[in-house]
Amino acid sequence: MQKIPFGKPMIGKEEKDAVIEVLNGSILVHGPVADKFEQLFADFTNAPHAVSVSSCTAGMHLIYFALGYGPGDEIIIPAQTHVATAHAVELTGARPVFVDAEEHTGNIDINAIETSITSRTKAIAVVHYLGVPVDMPKIMTIAKKHNLFVLEDCALAHGATINDIHTGLHGDAGVFSFYPVKHFTTGEGGMIILKDNYLAQKLKLIKAFGVDRSHGERKIPGVYDSITLGFNYRMSEIHAAIGVEQIKKLSNFLVKRKDNFERLANKLNDLPDVRVLPQPWDEKFKSCHYCLAVLLNKKLFKKRPEIINLLNKKGIGSSVYYPQPVPRMKYYEQKYGYNNNQYINAALISDSMIALPVGPHLNLGDMDTIALELKSCLEQIK
Ligand SMILES: *Cc1c(COP(=O)(O)O)cnc(C)c1O
Repeated sequence: MQKIPFGKPMIGKEEKDAVIEVLNGSILVHGPVADKFEQLFADFTNAPHAVSVSSCTAGMHLIYFALGYGPGDEIIIPAQTHVATAHAVELTGARPVFVDAEEHTGNIDINAIETSITSRTKAIAVVHYLGVPVDMPKIMTIAKKHNLFVLEDCALAHGATINDIHTGLHGDAGVFSFYPVKHFTTGEGGMIILKDNYLAQKLKLIKAFGVDRSHGERKIPGVYDSITLGFNYRMSEIHAAIGVEQIKKLSNFLVKRKDNFERLANKLNDLPDVRVLPQPWDEKFKSCHYCLAVLLNKKLFKKRPEIINLLNKKGIGSSVYYPQPVPRMKYYEQKYGYNNNQYINAALISDSMIALPVGPHLNLGDMDTIALELKSCLEQIK
């Protein structure tokens, strides 16, 4: 057992009791608990509409499907992201068009977006990388000019805001993940937030087979019609019950993340041979501190596995976000080809970063331990 694991779900008695309560009842899907979780998530983010789904990936696919994207269409996405951002596009038959990262944040390089727009471009998807908000006002200016839909992949953006408006509400839709090591968990799960009522109703319809009436609306049990093609991308009551309890703890988790991040960043900022990716917390941009990314200097690239192993031996968990620029991943490389000069910053971040934990399962003393041990690892490998 690691003393300081990278991620650890914060499941307490409240979550366990809530799950038992659902299991003791008779409604496991299509029930009041998912509705309640949606309401609480909408309240937290100040979103007009929230639609629960089975994962962030499902939510993104659902949106693209609802918008009718398919072969011949192009969607702009960042190269530095989870493969899910690209798969959600690819699953529709549309083509993901990758754009490199900015070196200083890891977010999509906004200045490189417009040259990637063609007559086939339908949408821009952005990712708030490690919880650092993308400059959405700039993205929206480009999107409006070219009449493009904007999806925010908010898988790591719970609590991140721009001008005090939650991420996910600047573009046309935002999709969150509740996978175990994200800011909070439902086991598996996701949530879409959006402003447009018509699209919200459509998403609710097609996340459940395109069935025209929910259980409560059926005059004769079991009798319904399907009015459009759809998926089963729902969130069960069991998962939602965990979410209802977890979201009550989110504000507290976020404070801990910020405190941990600042403590660790302060201790690592003047270390030679490494660079800490900054996470803003100012009037305009508020990060939600998913983890602390340390980038190794070029001469240490090859030593990364050794450093990670040494940290691991000291009981310190780490991760890599994300292990490859997505266009370099085998599936995409084989399908679209990969050019080493095209995604230089994304490759630099993928190949040099160590993601250190700052989650609410850890305290300031743990941050001091991480800093101390990282320093000694760097000494040791010299
Ligand atoms: C984790 C992650 C996803 C996938 O989320 P799931 O809920 O597991 O589908 C998508 N995008 C990003 C940026 C992620 O970090």
